[in-house]
Amino acid sequence: MKCPHCGHEQEDGKFCDMCGLALPKAPTKKIEDKIKKEEEELDREQLQISKETHRCGQCGYSFKGRRCPNCGTLYRHTLV
Ligand SMILES: [Zn+2]
Ligand SMILES: [Zn+2]
Repeated sequence: MKCPHCGHEQEDGKFCDMCGLALPKAPTKKIEDKIKKEEEELDREQLQISKETHRCGQCGYSFKGRRCPNCGTLYRHTLV
């Protein structure tokens, strides 16, 4: 990352190697991308789940949505 004070480029760290300024601790781009991707995948899964009627693995009750209204079991996709 780049020091906002002197412009020195260095590895991520708490302080700038050149001027000693405390560097702002922001989430790295990689982590942001990972979180975003996970959220997108979750959204897609949620959308699919809410559209489909599926059968509860516990009690066999057919329902739409995330949780079985009959026994309260959380439905999970079993995609491998
Ligand atoms: Zn600096
Ligand atoms: Zn159930």
